[in-house]
Amino acid sequence: MPPGSDRFPDGPSGPFAARTERMAVSDVRALFAAARRPDVISLAGGMPFVQALPEADVLDVARAVITERAHLALQYGGGVGLEELREQLVGLMAREGVQSDADRVLVTGGGQQALDIVGKVFIDPGDRIVVEAPSYVGALSAFSVYEPRFETIPLDDDGMVVEALEARFAEGLRPKFVYTVPTFTNPAGVTMSLERRHRLVALCRDAGVPIVEDNPYGMLRFEGDPLPCLHTLDPEGVVYLGTLSKVFAPGMRIGFITAPAAPLERMISTKEGSDLCTSSFAQLMAAAYLSGPRFEPNLLALVDVYRERRDAMLAALERFMPKGTTWTRPNGGFYVWVSLPPELDARSLLPTAFGRGVAYVAGTGFYPDGRGSDRIRLAFSYPTPEEIGEGVRRLGAVLSEALTLARGEAAGAPDPAPSHRGAGHDAGVGHGAAAEAAAAMRLLR
Ligand code: PMP
Repeated sequence: MPPGSDRFPDGPSGPFAARTERMAVSDVRALFAAARRPDVISLAGGMPFVQALPEADVLDVARAVITERAHLALQYGGGVGLEELREQLVGLMAREGVQSDADRVLVTGGGQQALDIVGKVFIDPGDRIVVEAPSYVGALSAFSVYEPRFETIPLDDDGMVVEALEARFAEGLRPKFVYTVPTFTNPAGVTMSLERRHRLVALCRDAGVPIVEDNPYGMLRFEGDPLPCLHTLDPEGVVYLGTLSKVFAPGMRIGFITAPAAPLERMISTKEGSDLCTSSFAQLMAAAYLSGPRFEPNLLALVDVYRERRDAMLAALERFMPKGTTWTRPNGGFYVWVSLPPELDARSLLPTAFGRGVAYVAGTGFYPDGRGSDRIRLAFSYPTPEEIGEGVRRLGAVLSEALTLARGEAAGAPDPAPSHRGAGHDAGVGHGAAAEAAAAMRLLR
């Protein structure tokens, strides 16, 4: 947080609520700033590649909404969302095996607002909630405003280590809820196995603990058979969150919740208190797009685009990462999660990487307890396959040099200051980028 001023001093005598002390300048904001620099290849922010959506298709639905539905589009809607969109969302969820009906759906301002609503409805200060470690940074920031105590359960290649959660429950842990991204997680890209899905649902059912299932990426599957959603396995125990950000456009800000009646009622009231309703214009556009002929082919094309980028990233990692580095191999979604050799610190290397023309997210933001300095999240969703190859090459060079230095094997390296060396020739990036990154890093958690 920037320091307070005379009129707005920090601390208990100032006007700020104590909860704002917990809000950090978001890593995400700094990442988007990085992504805008033309000389930096950003493997950082997980931006959908909206250019894949043909402009004509967007224009068609926008024109139809304006010419045929302008009065509705420009008016307030009900807090729960427009019925025609809710009906479309029921169909969308059914593609993934989630059974709902329009009366059980709440439209939200993106998946992010859904997370905030979950926090508001379930968390009192000091309550324990379970999250995966690593977990989606936006969920951690949405929940932390409500001052929970985070209980972390590790992830492996088969998703949340449910056995570890069982052990915690056996010790008496009873959290307010368990938050999970079971399919193609952000940041790790891994997917919870079928066996663990059944185990998690049974465990939480027996303990009377709700599950919050966040599923933004499920429809972006590159290969393999889909696994049942947790909601499908236990509709009465799971609050299910979805979004159109990854299958249509994040600029529309349309997310949704389906949940059992009791939490849903409270969520609807909460939503109304926070923004009255989601944009009617955006809702009508989304309903027209989902019900029109272009959604299906565009989604198939999008999956092809992301698969090709995932392949480019895995191939480049194989080629350029130094020995001792490992990474996940996602079957869908946007992200690869890289584990560095223990000598390297992802956060302190970030300014160097910026200087060499590549951005990534250091792992620390994805843990509520400051772990993750030896982890990196790479997003393959936005850059082209060529850019991904070049970005990973630059990253590999930064890591290899840092490793050489850290291991005291500088023999043969012409310059022991990697943050300055090569800033120009390697990436065509000046020192300005590194300085800017260093400034941005000071603002980060
Ligand atoms: N959950 C997860 C796991 C995400 O990765 C994201 C977007 N990065 C969201 C929720 C929120 O997305 P949106 O608000 O754009 O719907």
